[in-house]
This record gives sequence, C-alpha cells and structure tokens, in this order.
Amino acid sequence: MPTLTRSPWTLRDSEKLYRISGWGDPYFRINAAGHVEVTPQGMQQQEPGIDLYQLVTDLVARGLQLPLLIRFPEIVADRIGRICGSFQQAIERFGYPNVYRGVYPVKVNQQRHLVEEVVNHGRAYHFGLEAGSKPELLIALALLDTPEALLVCNGYKDRDFIETALLAQRLGRTPIIVLERLQELELVLEAADKLGIDPILGVRAKLSAQGIGRWGTSAGDRAKFGLTATDILQVVERLRKAGKLHCLRLLHYHIGSQISMVSVHGRAVREASQIYIELVKLGAPMGYLDIGGGLGIDYDGSQSTNHSSQSYSLEDYAATVVQTVLTTLEPHGIQPPILVTESGRALMSHQSVLVFDVQDINAASPYPMPTQLTSDAEVIQKLNQLYYEIQPDSLTADYRRCQELKDAALRQFTEGSLSLQERAQVERLFWNCSDKICTLAYEQHQAGHPVSVDLLDLDEMLASIYYGNFSLFQSLPDSWAIDQVFPIMPIHRLDQEPRQWATLADLTCDSDGKINRFFGDDGQITSVLPLHDPDGEPYLLGVFLGGAYQEILGDLHNLFGDTNAVHIRSRPGGYRVSQVIKGDTISEVLSWVQYNSEDLAETLHHATEAALQQGQISLSEARSLQRHFEDNLRAYTYLH
Ligand SMILES: *Cc1c(COP(=O)(O)O)cnc(C)c1O
Repeated sequence: MPTLTRSPWTLRDSEKLYRISGWGDPYFRINAAGHVEVTPQGMQQQEPGIDLYQLVTDLVARGLQLPLLIRFPEIVADRIGRICGSFQQAIERFGYPNVYRGVYPVKVNQQRHLVEEVVNHGRAYHFGLEAGSKPELLIALALLDTPEALLVCNGYKDRDFIETALLAQRLGRTPIIVLERLQELELVLEAADKLGIDPILGVRAKLSAQGIGRWGTSAGDRAKFGLTATDILQVVERLRKAGKLHCLRLLHYHIGSQISMVSVHGRAVREASQIYIELVKLGAPMGYLDIGGGLGIDYDGSQSTNHSSQSYSLEDYAATVVQTVLTTLEPHGIQPPILVTESGRALMSHQSVLVFDVQDINAASPYPMPTQLTSDAEVIQKLNQLYYEIQPDSLTADYRRCQELKDAALRQFTEGSLSLQERAQVERLFWNCSDKICTLAYEQHQAGHPVSVDLLDLDEMLASIYYGNFSLFQSLPDSWAIDQVFPIMPIHRLDQEPRQWATLADLTCDSDGKINRFFGDDGQITSVLPLHDPDGEPYLLGVFLGGAYQEILGDLHNLFGDTNAVHIRSRPGGYRVSQVIKGDTISEVLSWVQYNSEDLAETLHHATEAALQQGQISLSEARSLQRHFEDNLRAYTYLH
C-alpha cells in the first residue's frame, strides 16, 4: 500500500488532508485531542466547542445505536443570522431603500424541529417559508405565525391548494401565490371570486440566464417551471381584464442550485430586474423580487468555481443582488422592491452530521509476495520475475506486461491448464506487482515527475474496502443518484497518520452502495480516502454537509430505515440533548411494504409448531428462534 510519508504526523496534517478548515468553517474543526469539534454558533476559534467523538461515545453509552444523525439546530439559527446579516449590511452599504425578507423552502428538510427552529429563530428577521406542495403548505400555514413574514407558494397548484392559501390571509398571514403555469391563473381568479379574497400574486419567470453544473437546467427555455415573456404578458392582460392587476405583487425566478460563481447570480438578477421594470410599467404594483435559491456551499473547501465549491461569500452574494437591483431600477425612477431569497442548501447543509462505525475491512490483498513458488507454470515464473524487475522509469510498460501475464493466466485457468492453487498464486503476484508499481508511481508523482493517470488510478484497486454501518440510499442518496461528493473523515485519531487507502461500502446488497469519490487534499476528486487501521477498535466516520435534501430523498433500499437522530444544543462547558428521534424498527419498515408484524410472527409460530410435531426442532431451539424473531421485529434495522 502506498503510504503517506509525513512524520511526525500533526493535527495540521489531518486538517490539510481532510480540508476541514475549508468546508468546515466556522462550525467544524479539529481539537487538541485529535477529535472533530463542533462549534454550533460559529464561535470564535478560541472558545471550546462540542467534542463530536466524546458526544457520540456518550450517546452510544446511553443506548443510542449507530448510525446516528446528529443535528445542531443552533447551526440553522446561525445560518439565518448570517444570511439576513449579509443582506442588512449590503442594504446599509448601498443605501438600498427597502428591506430583505428571506424564506426557507420547506422541501430542503421538512423535519418538524428544524422548521420550528427556522420559524422561531427567524422571527426577529421576519423570516418566512416557501411551500411547493400541499403537505408543505399545511406545514407552513400551521407553523408560520410571524407578522410580516412571507408564505411563498410555489409548485403546481390545484383549486384546494389555492383556496387554502387564499384563506390564510384571513389569519393575517401573507401567502403569495406564485404562478408557475398559465393555467393556474384561471383557477386563482375563480377561487378569489368565490371566496371574495383578492390574491397576492407572483409570477415565476423563465430566465435566459442559467445556472451551471448539475442543476443548470432549472432555467432556460426548456425548464420545467416558469412563464415565458409571452405568458407573462398574457397574465398581465388577463389580470387587467379581470380588474385584478393590483394583485400582481411579486416576480420570482429560480435558476438552479449550488451556483458556484457570483457572476451567474448577477446576470440572473439583472435580467429579472428588467422584467420587474417592465411589469411596473405595465401597471402592476409589484413590490417584491424573489430571486429563488442557488446560494452555494463549499463542499470541497476550495473556495473555487468547481461545481462542488463556491467562489463567493455570503457578503458577496448579498452585495451583488442589492447593488444590481438598485442600479438597474434607479434610472427608471422605480421604487426598489423588498428582496426575497429562497436559500435552502445554504441554510440547512451544515446542521447535521451522520456518524457511522466501520464494521469490517476487506484489505485488497492481505497476502505478501510468495517467498517460494510452488508451480513451474511459465506465466507464474514470468510474473514473479517481473516483480523484481519493475523500474521507476518503465512503470507504464511494466504495468502493461503485468496485466498481459495475468490475462494469459486467467485464460489458461479457464481452459483447464492451471489449477486453483496456481490461479491463487497469480492473484497474489499480480497484486504485489501492482502495489509496487503504484507506490513507485506515487513517489514519482510527489517528486514532481509526470506519471500516467492510469498508474495513479491503481490506488482504487489497491485500496481496502471499509464496510460502514449505514445505507447510502437512506442517508446519502445524492451520492448515488447524482454523484454528489460530501466531505467524509474520521472524527477521532486525527493526531495519527492514516495509513490505509480506502473506499467505502455500505450495508446494502447493492453494488452501487459504495463511495469511491472523495475530495483529495488539493480539492480535486480522488477515488480513495486515507483512513486509519481500526485495529479491532471502534472506528467512527463522519459525513458532513448532508443536512439539505438527503434526509427526505433517502429511501428504504434493502429495508434499511431512518437512522436514529438526536438534536444537540450547546450550553456553557458542554451540550444538552434536546431531542431524541428513534430510527425505524424492523417492524416499522416492514409495515411500509404492507407486512403486519403480528401476522409474520404468527406464521413463523405455526411453522415452528409443525416442525416440533415432526421432531425436527427441539423445544429450546423453537423458543430461541421465536424469541430472535420477535426481538428483531422491535430492533433497529442497522447492525449492532
Ligand atoms: C429547491 C428550490 C429552492 C432551494 O434552492 P437551494 O439551491 O437549495 O437554495 C428555492 N426555490 C425553489 C423554487 C426551489 O424549487
């Protein structure tokens, strides 16, 4: 195994290797004990935070099993403060004559305690909610009681949705119905007529400015949502005809998520400001400009324009928006609108950490070079000889030769001319040759010599597989669905050099349930993650920045259910557990697929009785099987 050669190993080396000061700032860092430390209020570096390893150890001692999702609601509060603070600052700096009103898109994480945190902590900022479906509307309607906060209704709507939103005005709420499709307008007009309530209307525009990367197609002509210029003009005329043009108050757009360049935001808000001006000139009162989400976060910690990064700060974002709207509207003498954003990812990603234990390791080849060969087959002799002839200046050719010999050997095995013992020797020789080539290639690479990527890619083949006690499909679905990369690192032993190169596998029986894309220490994607040898001790890994979207997108593949979750708040000198939300039991996940646990237990009982009658099972075995079955129904779906 190519080992990293930096000694003595320091905390600084771990910090650099896992880039925690890049993506972790200001909530995660390494403490003097070599553990990950959480500072939920984005504290100054001097103040002590919560020792994540100690916290997990305590929680496990209280009987909570891993994997464990740990949420820090104070991080949500801090994010709201930072986003609102940035807009407030920009508004003061540019003398913007209006205010900022953020809304939180509930779809990003609907967990009740988190939405409550947004509402409660957001109250001081008149922070609102955005709903994109009927269930989300009901959440927002029930929870949001902040005067002046907006309740933005996006998504496709039916009559029910619209009437509910309209009636919410009677509670003193400010529901804004954003038209996503032309057809919704007639429904709104009918409902308004029937209820005698004037709607507060918005239109979602399809901008030509587009995001980039994974979510780049959320805008543009072929986007799923939004109105074209022609549609918008039709809305205005229809409203005018109905005598309801005074209801049109908001212009909305959303050009996609995780936008890594502030110039992309700048272009979009510029284009939207022009539409806003036109709408005012057409006679709509307007008053709100809602620029959607897209505020990125720095997953790889590189502060770059990588799709997984973010090359601008919150302050840059707010300043760009405020200044662009101001300078675009000013020459037209149009009153600048209330600015609305719908940041989801930027608000929720940092708040949770998934911690799981490594159950097992599969070393790529635990076998050293054979000291003596027990076969005189020609391919085996040649592979053995090749091992001793590998040279730094012929690595590519050596590797090709090594593969040829292995392929030839496998052919001979299939034809029946090599034995299973001989095939095993070939495997061992091939692995040791590859390991030597990869080690030399890395040495060359580190010394600054050009090395073929194929050789560097050998690291994945040579890496050990670490089996984690988690389900990728339940806890990190985007890692599977869209190849998103999350920062992953051990939460302890950071004062020690990680000497194993690893890829991760989850508990599911799906070969896609693996992680082999990580951020390397240069911010580029690598296929292996340096980890420690657990050496028979519990070894805990943390997955960070997964607080947005992952929880609700997660599924029950292989019937691994929701993980245990806890909410942690800091208090002077420590922490307190504010919520414990037990993960699914086996009985619960079985009920999702229509199995009744009692029926299952009963069926097993009959089978056991029958086996007893026939003398196939002893009484104590029968009792033991029945007990295992029933205990398991009540148990956590993950490994103990
Ligand atoms: C999903 C969504 C958001 C949130 O986007 P982020 O990039 O996560 O901030 C905002 N607005 C709308 C309309 C959305 O669909």
